[in-house]
Amino acid sequence: MGKLLSWVFIGVAGWLAWRLTGLVQRKLDAARRHDGLRSASGEAPGARRASALRDERIVPCAHCGVHFPASEALGRGDRLYCCPEHRDADRSAA
Ligand SMILES: [Zn+2]
Repeated sequence: MGKLLSWVFIGVAGWLAWRLTGLVQRKLDAARRHDGLRSASGEAPGARRASALRDERIVPCAHCGVHFPASEALGRGDRLYCCPEHRDADRSAA
């Protein structure tokens, strides 16, 4: 009987160890995923995007007045446009 109980105990201990290992592994994976979201500089990706947006110059379209990032602007002379249609419309109006 004592031998049977010790086998049951070994079984339960093994099961507990297996469960605990899985739990720790999941926690480690979650922590690694969380760290992976951070960039190499240690800056959160959201912060980097926010700073990129801060650095981006916002300009108004010379035709419709819509404000948009300067990197997407279509220029003609010193005037900036949001799309080719507005650039062409302004050309035909002038
Ligand atoms: Zn426009």
